[in-house]
Amino acid sequence: MRIETLLSKFAIKGINYDPLSGGGKALLSAEEQLAVVGLCWHESPVGWLVLFVEGLRDVHALKQLQIATRGETLRLMEDWRGVYPEKALTALCATAIAEATQQNGQVCPECDGAGKVLSKCNHQRKCQCCKNGRIEWTQETRFAYFAQVLPVTYSRFKQYYKILNKLTHWLDFNRESVVMSVNKKIKEERMVSEMFN
Ligand SMILES: [Zn+2]
Repeated sequence: MRIETLLSKFAIKGINYDPLSGGGKALLSAEEQLAVVGLCWHESPVGWLVLFVEGLRDVHALKQLQIATRGETLRLMEDWRGVYPEKALTALCATAIAEATQQNGQVCPECDGAGKVLSKCNHQRKCQCCKNGRIEWTQETRFAYFAQVLPVTYSRFKQYYKILNKLTHWLDFNRESVVMSVNKKIKEERMVSEMFN
């Protein structure tokens, strides 16, 4: 999984990689590749990590994103009254990352994202579990996700939700700032290509 795949989703061109270096493997780091097309990793590393996980399912990016999100969670938990287990941090991070990287919702486990299922008599039916193959984020689905790591009561979850909400917004904000700079770059590229055509 490479950054050019991600950037091609945004229609950004200009990444070169040596075709002789074993299956077209990128010679440059993600950071360097972004610099080649005039994008900056340092403007929002967290935003880039979110996009790498979202668009490329990049395992390395996910690990880095988990570390960064944990740091932010700890910062947010400074105001927390009372005690909480270590697992609460893991549950908060996992749920916030899941939502930020799957903004349209989780892939439906009943239809595998198809949005349709086969009935007993082999007729296609609209899946009753989801909307177009995705399960949208609601308080219920957030709770269900969170409770896979930390199976607390719903009322306890509502306390954690105050932190979770801030955490998800933090990830969304970072993601959005990268999307904005990518869109700006695409606009610039279009203007340049129109000038020469
Ligand atoms: Zn479904």
